[in-house]
Amino acid sequence: MSSDVKKLEFKSELKQILNLITHSLYSHKEVFLRELISNASDAIDKVRFDSVNNDALLENNKEWKIKITPDKEKNTMTISDNGIGMSRETIIDNLGTIAKSGTKEFLEQLKNAEAATKPELIGQFGVGFYSAFMVADSVTVISRTAGDSTNGVKWVSDGQGEFTVEQVEKAERGTEIILTLKAEEKEFTEQWKIRSLVKQFSDFIEHPVVMDVEKEDEQKVKSVTEDVLNSRKALWLRSKSDVTKEEYDQFYQTVSNDFSPPARTIHYTGEGVVEFKVLVFIPSKKPFDMMFGETKVGPRLYIRRVLIMDHCEQLLPPYLRFVKGVVDCADLPLNVSREMLQQNPMLEKIKSNLVKGVLKNLEEMMKSSYEEYVSFYKEFGTFLKEGLNSDWANREQITKLLLFGSMKTDEKKFTSLQQYVDAMGSEQNEIYYLSGEDRDVLMHTPYLELFRSKQWDVLFMTDPIDEFILPSLPEFGGKKLVAADKNEITAENESENKELQLTFAGLFGAMKAKLDHVKEIKVSARLKESASCLVSDKDGMSSNMERIMQKLGRMDEEKAADRILELNVEHPAVKSLKSIYDASADDPRIELFTHILYDQAVIAEGSKLKDPAAFAQRINQLLVDKTNS
Ligand code: ADP
Repeated sequence: MSSDVKKLEFKSELKQILNLITHSLYSHKEVFLRELISNASDAIDKVRFDSVNNDALLENNKEWKIKITPDKEKNTMTISDNGIGMSRETIIDNLGTIAKSGTKEFLEQLKNAEAATKPELIGQFGVGFYSAFMVADSVTVISRTAGDSTNGVKWVSDGQGEFTVEQVEKAERGTEIILTLKAEEKEFTEQWKIRSLVKQFSDFIEHPVVMDVEKEDEQKVKSVTEDVLNSRKALWLRSKSDVTKEEYDQFYQTVSNDFSPPARTIHYTGEGVVEFKVLVFIPSKKPFDMMFGETKVGPRLYIRRVLIMDHCEQLLPPYLRFVKGVVDCADLPLNVSREMLQQNPMLEKIKSNLVKGVLKNLEEMMKSSYEEYVSFYKEFGTFLKEGLNSDWANREQITKLLLFGSMKTDEKKFTSLQQYVDAMGSEQNEIYYLSGEDRDVLMHTPYLELFRSKQWDVLFMTDPIDEFILPSLPEFGGKKLVAADKNEITAENESENKELQLTFAGLFGAMKAKLDHVKEIKVSARLKESASCLVSDKDGMSSNMERIMQKLGRMDEEKAADRILELNVEHPAVKSLKSIYDASADDPRIELFTHILYDQAVIAEGSKLKDPAAFAQRINQLLVDKTNS
């Protein structure tokens, strides 16, 4: 070793970091390139900034550039930049000690993390320069400060605890980092590999990342050209007016893997306590990954163009998992940790702003392009409904975005709650709904008879999730939501209804004694044409909910709650039963009629008869009686 080569030791914590990085974070080793490119880009930003007041720093070289040079024979990779460069002192300071508090924290976390989560951590931390030792046996840094042409410095280390520094000549300003790759990391000398890593991690770096590429022309003459590997288009940092629809759509493809254009593009700068850029998209179709398997939640998080993570869950709630895109926050430190992200008040602010932005956009879409909104809703309405139960703060806003089929809308058409309320006449004070499997069945249930006669609309809740959101939807615009098939519909003339109830008390008592799952029999205020129907208690489960729970295996059929049987006392069948009962309370036909009226009600609500054979037998009995009489 010549006398001017100085051997120095890494500070002790750094030794541990190096050790941990090289051993426990190995599965994400390729991020080293992202880190080195990001450092190079920062160094260029610095000299560009400093040269504004000091021309000499430019040294007539303003062609900002980061160059990657693989060498297969030597098994090396060199990353060079013409940025600010480092002097002997700064190189010892920066590459020999822990400069950033974030690095210390990283170490702490690594120590405490479970072995399995260690590889995850590297993605969250900018572990910086030292990550190079994951792929390199030795790293050489040759650097020279801008404006100081005489004092080049060479730093060499094998990452084992020591490094050397010596003075060298370096013609160009900036830094050159030469990685002597480990024998098993030859792949990083492959051009395709470098290309794909740059594309993946550093595509939006502002400065060109270049590589020499040998090309052959038609005459087979070889020549070397410098290819730019990154697209450099950080669309989200550009102003809206500078970005074309094609560029937005293309970018959407890269973040969503969805090849149809997005329904909406949301691009803005958030200002206030934090400054951040948002470029997110509302898809028009359910992307592939949402149909199969689990969807990752959250937009990409960039910090000044450097990709920090692919899905930042802290930035969007799970129900908005269909929203794809990018958030770039300049105020976050690059070496931010996952834990720091979790409790970060800046991210909380961005999240609430982003959610409001998305919901507002949807509302606008609903107002200005209703048909487009409807087709969006068909794909993603269920997701919005999830939000009703989870996003309390925005519940009202989400409620406005809901659409339902209804008795009065045509098939496959919808109404919003607002449209429903606007169409209500002065006599109607509540919003009525009916839940069930499909529109056809609901259209023919007896529960609609009252509403049909009054010309009041009834919302159809035919999405299985509807049953689960109803508790979060007690009212809209001051109007209560009332189930058309529950014991909540009161008679217009209550005293008349009470009187009738008394008149029929004897018959109802006799009927109830013959039925197993009926808790009460009532004079119906809702039936106009049918003879009978079953309703649930006001706070009980609807029959639809029971069917859903049974399908999910969450409820035994036997456990279904007893229901209320309502009878239409104007109906000839009920009248006839009444006269049979009045003539003789022991008439065997009472039992027959009772079961038939009950079974009709079961069929009408869309449930299955427990004993269809018995039903058929009773009908046949009736036919025989009729023929014989
Ligand atoms: P971080 O980038 O998070 O600060 P690093 O370990 O990556 O941590 O780098 C430490 C420091 O070394 C940087 O802050 C910077 O001052 C200096 N540095 C690293 N790479 C370069 C480079 N290519 N040019 C100039 N300075 C650099």
